[in-house]
Amino acid sequence: MSLPKDHYRHIPSVGTLIAAAPTRDVLAHCPRWAVLQETRALVQAMRDGEEPIVTKDEDKDAWHQRLAVQIASRAQETANYSLSRVINATGVVLHTNMGRALLAPAAIEHMANVAANYSNLELDLQTGERGSRYEHVRQLVCDLTGAQDAIVVNNNAAAVVLCLSVFAKDRDVILARGELVEIGGSFRIPEIMELSGCRLREIGTTNRVHLRDYETAVSEDTALLLKVHTSNYRVIGFTKTVSAADLRPLADESGVPIMYDLGAGCLVDLGAFGLPAEPTVQESLASGADIVTFSGDKLLGGPQVGVVAGRADLIDKLKKHQLLRAFRVDKLCLAALEATLRIYRDTQAPSTEIPCLQMLGLSSESIAERAKKFSESLRGVLPGDWQMQLRSGQSQVGAGSSPENGLPTTLVAIATGSSQAATVETALRRHRPAVMLRVGGGELLIDLRTVDPKDEDALTAALGAVANQ
Ligand SMILES: *Cc1c(COP(=O)(O)O)cnc(C)c1O
Repeated sequence: MSLPKDHYRHIPSVGTLIAAAPTRDVLAHCPRWAVLQETRALVQAMRDGEEPIVTKDEDKDAWHQRLAVQIASRAQETANYSLSRVINATGVVLHTNMGRALLAPAAIEHMANVAANYSNLELDLQTGERGSRYEHVRQLVCDLTGAQDAIVVNNNAAAVVLCLSVFAKDRDVILARGELVEIGGSFRIPEIMELSGCRLREIGTTNRVHLRDYETAVSEDTALLLKVHTSNYRVIGFTKTVSAADLRPLADESGVPIMYDLGAGCLVDLGAFGLPAEPTVQESLASGADIVTFSGDKLLGGPQVGVVAGRADLIDKLKKHQLLRAFRVDKLCLAALEATLRIYRDTQAPSTEIPCLQMLGLSSESIAERAKKFSESLRGVLPGDWQMQLRSGQSQVGAGSSPENGLPTTLVAIATGSSQAATVETALRRHRPAVMLRVGGGELLIDLRTVDPKDEDALTAALGAVANQ
């Protein structure tokens, strides 16, 4: 691009902009480096012809003020934490992009206590000798699931890789074609098998597999009979799967263990929430799996960890393997897991204390009532041409669980008058605190199931600020 000859002459210096009142003011609560960085970037953009330049002398002061306001707001944004709170008004309870499960207060408290103090992480306080970090949750997992032994790693993907590497390196793993799953974020069972150094022995077809397919495939080279919970999709129609219980006689006869990657790791009956039953960890072990793997931050409602539970001799092999060190769970997640599991063990109704279960358990009537009150408070802050309506809809479990079944909810649907819903959605995402919601049929859709009641005022304020921009 060709710039006019006197282009550079009119550009204010970095010093001039820093001295302007709005920039000076932001320096009181914003680090100097952020203000300098944004000032330099703006000046450079003007030099490059990417920012308009005012050339009339009589308009200069007002222009410098405007630039300083811009710098102040960008510097503030730059200085803010990158990882920040989001108000989740999407109604997706376990949203992977928004951090999956929220922790229970007891888990947060225990985690903070372990973070702020030295702890007996790997110390046996009875003997004074080195202890194992896995001991802090081992008995809890065993009590809750009926497993003989358990270990914890940093997520379920690591749990699967660890098991495959340790139990099946250079050997065959038998898996039904209907269970060749891809989880979001490029976790694909065939690739994971390759990475773990085992040979995938696919059997059956996409929709059907029979016990005889497993029986025919088992050989001297078979290390595992693998089952993967098809958590994020369903094959419906003319289908047949083989359960862990069906596989048990074959496993006994051949001496090949059954491993079941459960994904969600549910400990309670989801039927109580009006959702189709997910296999629980305890049922899966009782029905015949030798070893199960599951996530801590899906339906369990705890921190990001992966749990391996099952036969003691198999868990022992994992404990002795080098790879375990690379997947080691950190003390904060371990603390949060211990507290979360204790809620399941010690309280009558864990679903009243574990946030994700709490949200799943909200009745559609109680959400309808909140939606009504909320829309009334919104009425006062939205422009006159914006229309609001309560509408029935569906909340989602998320994190790939119960993909085809939502929970009935009441949505606050907002028609945004002369503004585009997509533009408003973008502005809400860029607002602080950020607000995530759904857009459908040209309307904003708010599902209060995933909004903490104490965040409703902040949500109203964000909508009001964005609507009246
Ligand atoms: C979610 C899931 C995983 C991966 O678990 P992360 O907690 O994301 O590491 C693996 N297998 C199945 C079946 C899953 O649903």
